[in-house]
Amino acid sequence: MLEQIDYDIVIVGGGLVGASLAAALRHTQLKIALIEASPWTVQTCPSFDDRVIALAYGSQQIFASIGIDIASVPIEQIHVSDQGKFGITRLSHNLLKLPALGYVISARQIGQVLQETLQQSAITLFTSTQITEFKNHSQFVTLQLQQSDRHFQLKTRLLVAADGGHSYIRQQLGIPIHQHDYQQTAIIANVVLQKFHQYTAYERFTPSGPLALLPLQGNHCSLVWTVRQEQVESIMSLDKLAFLQALQQQFGWRLGQFIQVGQRYAYPLQLIQAQTLTKGRTVMIGNAAHTLHPVGGQGLNLGLRDVATLAELIVTTPEIGEKASLDIYAQRQHADHKKVIQITNGLVNTFSNTFFPLVLARNIGLLATDAIPLLKKKFALQMMGLNR
Ligand SMILES: Cc1cc2nc3c(=O)[nH]c(=O)nc-3n(C[C@H](O)[C@H](O)[C@H](O)COP(=O)(O)OP(=O)(O)OC[C@H]3O[C@@H](n4cnc5c(N)ncnc54)[C@H](O)[C@@H]3O)c2cc1C
Repeated sequence: MLEQIDYDIVIVGGGLVGASLAAALRHTQLKIALIEASPWTVQTCPSFDDRVIALAYGSQQIFASIGIDIASVPIEQIHVSDQGKFGITRLSHNLLKLPALGYVISARQIGQVLQETLQQSAITLFTSTQITEFKNHSQFVTLQLQQSDRHFQLKTRLLVAADGGHSYIRQQLGIPIHQHDYQQTAIIANVVLQKFHQYTAYERFTPSGPLALLPLQGNHCSLVWTVRQEQVESIMSLDKLAFLQALQQQFGWRLGQFIQVGQRYAYPLQLIQAQTLTKGRTVMIGNAAHTLHPVGGQGLNLGLRDVATLAELIVTTPEIGEKASLDIYAQRQHADHKKVIQITNGLVNTFSNTFFPLVLARNIGLLATDAIPLLKKKFALQMMGLNR
């Protein structure tokens, strides 16, 4: 039997961004459904995995404003360097007179807080659910769902696609994308070092790609090591000792010896950017709108700004899904996406280049950023999601 239900808003994708939007709207009078393809536990939802997120100060503020407390390790300094070169820049929370530049927390921990919040709310959760049909009409959107042997037909005034980089909704709408394969893979793992990180996040640019260490509890750090496609297999297959030695060679001795490494995971990296953010009564947020290179840790931070903008427009606009308010969302967020993609691509391209004048220029750039407080402040505000 087909069960038919009307909603004000349906969110497709219960990952970090979709679940955050649902959480942001949970106290409104709106009738909201969240649809997630996976069984949606912190062990099975692909968005809630072991990757460690550098949550910018601005994102922590967004979570706080929607009543979500994210307890995590603070980043008090950021140290940026270029392997084997002289340029270095350091950013400190003191420069901006804030308690921290950002916070480090695993995607799984954020997922757990979001799940607990939503399970206590009035939002309808359709988990382990597949969308079998989707239609964008002028006044509403309809969806057919299958959950095991149950079938549902949903009708909604606004559909939000938060279904990740390979968004089914975006494909069904025929929205064109700009796609670029970086030919790089991020290897992530937890590592233990000899010295305490003093709440410093390190970003080190190497010829194969950037390498980041994010502070965790004690002497533990989270590693995001970007390598070229052709290096992945050999690095992933190294035994622990050989892996630690290779890592030591790339990062150097700033934090003493690398002592231990946990399980390694590999993420191939590409840029996916939707060319339009809305179509009819459908709007895209998070990775469905922009999948980024993790250099500088901007993907989720940008997705949370999508959430903040859209949530604000939803609660202040009388007609949900109305074109005028979706256009405002598209205009604001397109500008934000463009700026972040430019910075991310700039970092990837400039710092992976070994052409001597570029190497010199980028080191002078690093030194200049370090020496000129205003330039440094501008860069810090952008990376913290406060420069809007
Ligand atoms: C190695 C690495 C490190 C990173 N580090 C950082 C960082 O430090 N800081 C930062 O800000 N960002 C970081 N990011 C980016 C961040 O992880 C992403 O921006 C974030 O996960 C995007 O969340 P999302 O909910 O938009 O998409 P996703 O995480 O892809 O979630 C999409 C959800 O939709 C569900 N779904 C998919 N299709 C359907 C469907 N048809 N129906 C229903 N549900 C569906 C999926 O099951 C999933 O739960 C990093 C990324 C990587 C790869």
